[in-house]
Amino acid sequence: MKIHEYQAKELFRQYGIPAPDGAVATTADEAVAIATKMGLPVVIKAQVHVGGRGKAGGVKVVTEKDQVKSVAEKILALTIKDLPVRKVLVTPAVVIKKEVYLSILIDRGARAIVFIGCADGGVEIEETAKTHPEKILRHEVTATECAKLDKAKLLPFASKLFDDPKQAAAAADMMVKMGKLFMEKDASLVEINPLIVDDKGEVIALDGKMMIDDNALFRHDELIGYRDMDSEDQDELDAKDAGLSFIRLDGTIGCMVNGAGLAMATMDTIKHFGGSPANFLDVGGSSDPKKVVIAFKMILKDPGIKVILVNIFGGITRCDDIAKGILASMQEFNVPVPIIIRLVGTNEKEGRALLEGTALTTVTSLEEGAVKAAKIGSLT
Ligand code: GDP
Ligand code: MN
Repeated sequence: MKIHEYQAKELFRQYGIPAPDGAVATTADEAVAIATKMGLPVVIKAQVHVGGRGKAGGVKVVTEKDQVKSVAEKILALTIKDLPVRKVLVTPAVVIKKEVYLSILIDRGARAIVFIGCADGGVEIEETAKTHPEKILRHEVTATECAKLDKAKLLPFASKLFDDPKQAAAAADMMVKMGKLFMEKDASLVEINPLIVDDKGEVIALDGKMMIDDNALFRHDELIGYRDMDSEDQDELDAKDAGLSFIRLDGTIGCMVNGAGLAMATMDTIKHFGGSPANFLDVGGSSDPKKVVIAFKMILKDPGIKVILVNIFGGITRCDDIAKGILASMQEFNVPVPIIIRLVGTNEKEGRALLEGTALTTVTSLEEGAVKAAKIGSLT
């Protein structure tokens, strides 16, 4: 789950990370009321879950009181990267002397938690990573130490971002707090871009971005209210409601599998034979044929699908129920791509018998299915 800048900043302040105050408005009049109370100049910032709001006209410094209304109106009317701006953050403007990038995230490739820093902040870090990879600094920490980091150990890293020793010390202190926040909220990312130095030499988080692990939300009642449905994938939410785990990917082979481990093994096998999965889909342990119909609908919403591979290892799941679900799907809507089915385990014979005489391709091993799917999936 992504959270908004104003929400991230609320958490920053709770953890002692300096971030400018502010209030959120949903109308231009509310923005005026906030700015009047706060005093000018203010910055009005679109609250949408995308980067590069500044470039898109979603971040404006306003110095004149009579301009707050029109600027807020303009920003509230924007759609940035397909997301409507429904809220703006009105926050005191600060003088920026220096902009730095600082984040903590899970680096799956390195199997580590890592701080990423760059002395040239403010701009999109992905660009700098491409053009000047040597400017991107890393500092790995272990999960055990992350909640209680040692400031002294972080100082060398912070000193590469800030020449001034006082500012480096402030940044190191901030990193300790970021580590604690990251662990305690089950985040996969805490990003400050820019982390700035103001005209008094203070180090302040001027922007904030956080991602929370969805699977940990059950233990964060305090964060549930932060969810913004605008930026959730509707299919993934529908799948969750139906008791399916569904993640969209960008390949051509739709996958329907029972069990998360088997789903991953299926995706690996498809990759191994040169194919690319279009989704991760775990239909779960039960075998309600209705779930299979919903699963097909989800998969087929993707226009890039060229073939569907059904891989069922029946334990609690009964193969005949899956077969019934597949047949019901074929009746309910025209499935425009070939379906390759591997059904083994409980009631395998009954399942196969139901599919006999149909146009469906059945296979007896995952390898055979993956090879066939990869072949069709890579046709252009
Ligand atoms: P993003 O474009 O979505 O990452 O939004 P940011 O919050 O990072 O803002 C983009 C840019 O706007 C920053 O890099 C700053 O240069 C500028 N900006 C944001 N807040 C302020 C502020 O309080 N004062 C000044 N002078 N500039 C600001
Ligand atoms: Mn930013």
